[in-house]
Amino acid sequence: MKQSMTLIPTLREVPSDAEVKSHQLLLRAGFIRQNASGVYTYMPLGRKVLQKVEAIIREEMNNAGAAELFMPALQQAELWQESGRWYSYGPELMRLRDRHDREFALGATHEEVITSLVRDEVKSYKRLPLTLYQIQTKFRDEKRPRFGLLRGREFIMKDAYSFHANQESLDQVYDRLFQAYSNVFKRCGLNFRAVIADSGAMGGKDTHEFMVLSDIGEDTIAYSDTSDFAANIEMAPVTAVYEKSSEPANSLEKVHTENKKTIEEVSSFLQVQEKDCIKSLLFKVDDRQILVLVRGDHEVNDIKLKNFLEASVVELADVNTTKEVLGCSVGSLGPIGVENVEVFADHAVEAIVNGVCGANVEDYHFKNVNPERDFKVSAYADLRFIKEGDPSPDGQGTIVFAKGIEVGHVFKLGTRYSEAMNAVFLDENGRTQPMIMGCYGIGVSRTMAAVAEQFSDENGLVWPSNITPFDVHLIAVNMKDSDQAALAEELYSNLKDSGLDVLLDDRQERPGVKFADSDLIGLPVRITVGKKAGEGIVEVKIRKNGDMQEVHKDQLADTIKGILQEL
Ligand code: ATP
Ligand code: MG
Repeated sequence: MKQSMTLIPTLREVPSDAEVKSHQLLLRAGFIRQNASGVYTYMPLGRKVLQKVEAIIREEMNNAGAAELFMPALQQAELWQESGRWYSYGPELMRLRDRHDREFALGATHEEVITSLVRDEVKSYKRLPLTLYQIQTKFRDEKRPRFGLLRGREFIMKDAYSFHANQESLDQVYDRLFQAYSNVFKRCGLNFRAVIADSGAMGGKDTHEFMVLSDIGEDTIAYSDTSDFAANIEMAPVTAVYEKSSEPANSLEKVHTENKKTIEEVSSFLQVQEKDCIKSLLFKVDDRQILVLVRGDHEVNDIKLKNFLEASVVELADVNTTKEVLGCSVGSLGPIGVENVEVFADHAVEAIVNGVCGANVEDYHFKNVNPERDFKVSAYADLRFIKEGDPSPDGQGTIVFAKGIEVGHVFKLGTRYSEAMNAVFLDENGRTQPMIMGCYGIGVSRTMAAVAEQFSDENGLVWPSNITPFDVHLIAVNMKDSDQAALAEELYSNLKDSGLDVLLDDRQERPGVKFADSDLIGLPVRITVGKKAGEGIVEVKIRKNGDMQEVHKDQLADTIKGILQEL
């Protein structure tokens, strides 16, 4: 492609509203342009990267035995009403009406469409398992669209859905697609981890997220410093064992703690360690309240709480409810004497001896609190967030944290949709059964941004060779010089004939501008046609490490192919 014939509007200035590297660089290098908040045009260079990512995904999905189809983005409300998500999905689902006043949604995801399709077309176990996928635009009215392509309102997703007659078949396909996903992200050059995740509102069981490690990630990953254990911090189980000290239990004492609200304030005022304090929090769990206790140096993990109680909504009670139910404000809560709400505690609380907790009276706390002697709990469970330094749950090494960008998600759905939408089949014995399902997503446009986030330097983007928009940037320093112009044209057509994808900068621009743009765009190899054009010699520069060499035009194609293979 010649630059004079395409559109690559580079920018010198960093756009003011772009906070993260990938967003800034993709805008500056002319890969994307914003239309509306969270809505982007993929410019010719951006489109090429996407197509390469998509090609890798297609290859891996097809190899894993999935068949591609293409479903509508415009989806009738009836389907979403059948699954119940018309009512539960909330404002993220974009809704609209047609001229006959019928309601529709723009596809945020396609479980409903695919389940209704397979329900209609597949009736027998003989047609199962079946895995179908598509690469398509998704619409989600995100509360906070940001970071460019990383969180858009219109974005490209690869979504796959599998249908099974039994759990073993789902387990097999899940493993196969898990491997396919690992291959995809490896081939994109990404540094990622597959982490155990929360099944959340989707109501399934096994689920993994593929996380690209990055400081700007919105999720925290807890991983082992020695093994390959990794989990979303929401899910990482705590396996720490708490030793109870042999110190004798002293008698309970109520003390005045004027204006001491936080664990930090209370512990330093009473001269005890934070880990000897009991943090008590009132939660709203579906339609009741419960009191949750964790150690002062720990945090309640509301996802674990929700899963433990098998609840659908868990949230901290507001100030008024807390006052109403326990008679004081948040800083003075405690479990002693509480009878009107159930009390649950994290395992660590059980080991506390002579601890401190709130007295449910404003500005008062108890000292020498001993669980079981002074209060009872309904159950002890793993209810806290894991911390750095905790033992890794797989028994190998200790936990460290990293931030991650979720680029993919594999999920065992079970019968959540098939039951709601009556997607059934006849099994070998002629019995009607609901299909067992899995779903699998990759954020295609987000993956492109994640690569940009991981691969850049102070001069611009540095594309991994597998998904670069072009292999080679061919630059004639001076297009008015006839030797240079002629050699550039010659090389352009020879390199293309040899199978390389070449971007020729044939613009009448100053060399400085051309080089700066070239670094910004970040193709793996740059060829500069300059003073030695008459002798057929050009300069070859590797974008990643700046290595340069002079190469004769006859060896050029082979040299470049060698370089690309090694990158
Ligand atoms: P997130 O927690 O980031 O909102 P999600 O759990 O809503 O993601 P899924 O519904 O599992 O995401 O969608 C599958 C994949 O689509 C995600 O792994 C992610 O890569 C991508 N994705 C989700 N939302 C967006 C978005 N707003 N913009 C770009 N990609 C997205
Ligand atoms: Mg989301």
